[in-house]
Amino acid sequence: MSVQVVAAKMAELEFEDVPNKELPAESPVTPSSEDKILAKNVPHDVGSSATTPTIEPSVKAGDPSPGLLTPNPVKMPQSSAMKRPEPQQNGGDAFVNRDGTVAEAPRMKKIQFADQKQEFNKRPTKIGRRSLSRSISQSSTDSYSSAASYTDSSDDETSPRDKQQKNTKGNGDFCIKNIKQADFGRREIEIAEQEMPALMALRKRAQGEKPLAGAKVVGCTHITAQTAVLMETLAALGAQCRWAACNIYSTQNEVAAALAEGGFSVFAWKGESEDDFWWCIDRCVNLEGWQPNMILDDGGDLTHWIYKKYPNMFKKIKGIVEESVTGVHRLYQLSKAGKLCVPAMNVNDSVTKQKFDNLYCCRESILDGLKRTTDVMFGGKQVVVCGYGEVGKGCCAALKAMGSIVYVTEIDPICALQACMDGFRLVKLNEVIRHVDIVITCTGNKNVVVREYLDRMKNGCIVCNMGHSNTEIDVASLRTPELTWERVRSQVDHVIWPDGKRIVLLAEGRLLNLSCSTVPTFVLSITATTQALALIELYNAPEGRYKQDVYLLPKKMDEYVASLHLPTFDAHLTELSDEQAKYLGLNKNGPFKPNYYR
Ligand code: NAD
Repeated sequence: MSVQVVAAKMAELEFEDVPNKELPAESPVTPSSEDKILAKNVPHDVGSSATTPTIEPSVKAGDPSPGLLTPNPVKMPQSSAMKRPEPQQNGGDAFVNRDGTVAEAPRMKKIQFADQKQEFNKRPTKIGRRSLSRSISQSSTDSYSSAASYTDSSDDETSPRDKQQKNTKGNGDFCIKNIKQADFGRREIEIAEQEMPALMALRKRAQGEKPLAGAKVVGCTHITAQTAVLMETLAALGAQCRWAACNIYSTQNEVAAALAEGGFSVFAWKGESEDDFWWCIDRCVNLEGWQPNMILDDGGDLTHWIYKKYPNMFKKIKGIVEESVTGVHRLYQLSKAGKLCVPAMNVNDSVTKQKFDNLYCCRESILDGLKRTTDVMFGGKQVVVCGYGEVGKGCCAALKAMGSIVYVTEIDPICALQACMDGFRLVKLNEVIRHVDIVITCTGNKNVVVREYLDRMKNGCIVCNMGHSNTEIDVASLRTPELTWERVRSQVDHVIWPDGKRIVLLAEGRLLNLSCSTVPTFVLSITATTQALALIELYNAPEGRYKQDVYLLPKKMDEYVASLHLPTFDAHLTELSDEQAKYLGLNKNGPFKPNYYR
């Protein structure tokens, strides 16, 4: 049996297990359609691999030109996305149904929407704000330290909502901390641009071509320099943007100022209250004479605000692009309940996002997070990493390179064998817990480090988590009267036992790198490019190509995103010869891997 036949059989097997399969593993593309960018073509029959139609290119006047976003030598991918199986939830989640009831799985905090009748202008006091912040979604409150900020030390306590600000052109349709910080923000954006080559390439290619002309994008993401590069790219591609923050702590105020100065309607500042959070989202959406037709969300709060408050808006909305695990899970829940009324793209599960965000991002940021919080020296330290998935592999590689002695725990024999082959000692946690210097969890599971282990750790042991939720370390079990907590630095607690033993707990068991360090811009570039392409695709897709469901971008689009980042490294991609392509049963222009390849 040839490799291709085996692969095809495997694909069949995989998809047989998948409920609601709609798209074939690969949609054939005619050579001529290879050159099509996000084509506005024939709607796909996404139902059966046997009858999958070929896409016939038909560029209409005003359509993006076929080569607009097409890099050399890699061609632009075909346009139709595929559905994916149910997300593998590493943990529980919560979801607010349309009727306001909350369906909650074990591990995620509830979202509670601000009361429908809430009057936004009755703002709470500072203390009130703090207590309110408990009732917003976890992704909105997870501490997230943004890149270097020159201006955060501002002691101006006035709420941005009480300020009347205008940019130098007299435009006041924004609400940010301080418009005077715009120059600092512009510098941050320019620095980020240097590490976001694909978005800059899209901008260049879009000169004269506007695949997002007429798009009115409402966004809710971290407002950082990297997001600014994305927003300015969307604008260069023809979109109008209104934006709010998806996290109450993560806004870089000076970047928000630069965006406002540049004419963007931004409603966000660092340290929003819950009331501010929803008010900002509302200001983005609720504007006379302006209705969004695309949503770019990170966490699902914006989507749900529109569902809750302005469901009629969905009549004009062409699609949702969602980045986060949490938001994607909510979309799948909506879809399952038959309540999703527009197509949605799941960017979170794109291969490029998974590979780069999980593996390479964590490989780079684990050391940064540990160093910034503890100044620890890694050489010779004994570290145990729980979980040898993508995140665990990244952490182990970084620590090994620094000379640490790394142990791994795993439940899955395949990942366990990988750890062994990579030269790590596979152990049970209880075998090493007494003598390790650092414990890192990356399993996406719960109660991996329980009180019993915490009791047995040696004095000074550093404990932290790189997984999505703060459930991997049983932090709650440490909140007992006999233990003393001492906050020694921001995000660093010493938990002290009666005999004087201390463990060093980082970020209270939340994601270490997002809480205590920064995330490499290049990684964000990959995700942002995928988001931009997903928006273009949904916006330009002809009626009927996408149903009211959740889709993954096709492998070819992933390959395209990767190809746009290759010039940074002066990397030279090998092209298949006709003979080789035939031998492997591939199209010369990709996709080069089956959809199940991860
Ligand atoms: P993964 O599924 O590839 O890896 C998790 C591994 O943990 C699996 O191999 C699994 O077998 C193992 N595991 C599960 N329970 C275990 C236990 N009790 N003991 C030991 N091993 C166990 O997932 P991943 O991509 O590595 O992501 C892991 C977590 O990190 C997820 O929660 C994910 O959302 C999060 N994440 C964090 C970042 C970040 O920047 N910190 C980035 C991406 C993902």
